[in-house]
Amino acid sequence: MTAHHPSEQLLRHYERGDDLAADQLWAVESHLENCAPCRGRLAPDPLATAVWAELAPIIDRARQLPRTHAWWRWVHGWVSPVAGPWLAMILLVTAAAVALDRLGSVAGGRVSLVLLIAPVLPVLGVAASWGPALDPVHELTVGTPRAGLGLVFRRTASVLAVVVPALTAASSLTGLGLSRWLLPCLAFTAGTLALGALVGVTRAAIAFVAAWVLAIIVPTVAFGRTSVVLAVTPLWAGVLLLGIAVITLRRKAFTRLGT
Ligand SMILES: [Zn+2]
Repeated sequence: MTAHHPSEQLLRHYERGDDLAADQLWAVESHLENCAPCRGRLAPDPLATAVWAELAPIIDRARQLPRTHAWWRWVHGWVSPVAGPWLAMILLVTAAAVALDRLGSVAGGRVSLVLLIAPVLPVLGVAASWGPALDPVHELTVGTPRAGLGLVFRRTASVLAVVVPALTAASSLTGLGLSRWLLPCLAFTAGTLALGALVGVTRAAIAFVAAWVLAIIVPTVAFGRTSVVLAVTPLWAGVLLLGIAVITLRRKAFTRLGT
């Protein structure tokens, strides 16, 4: 991006606050953030200059917030600042499920708890990373030029970067195959984002978790046998593809506040 500086015309439009397409506006703003020469190309705005002349001495006297490290800002470009405790909880729940599975305490060891919780773990992480329910600065996040599908994917990737290795470790400790939980796990993640683009991520997460508990967990615990639905690969592949299609079609939903 830095190699392609915005055209003179585009910069003038940006300067005047003309109605630019969201992706163009985003591209210009993120370029300006990283390119000092282009910031220099922006003509000084007389109003901003006047305001700055009055503000500068006040700011100099004000107490400064400590500057954060570059790597910390990089981390927060991926992980939602409020997701930390939730990701820790996901790891704890996974560890507890491994312990219970190894003790064979669920339905006399015929049912794997790791398998049962695998699809809902990323849903919790995604809900914690993108939604007004758990993130007090969600409105600010949605209002930034970087908001949108790209940021949602980064945050989802950061959740999966915790959940998938944790479940891989858990499944190797309990002797489960990767193929038994990975596809439902990814399908639920895509499904939550897809439904989230329609009704908001928090509501979508609640709907998916509730459906999972009713359709899979209750019958599994009641009959002491893992539901066959978990093994229907085409079903999960279908949910995953449908989810990705809906997310792509409704990508603009992630730059608006939920209704
Ligand atoms: Zn530039």
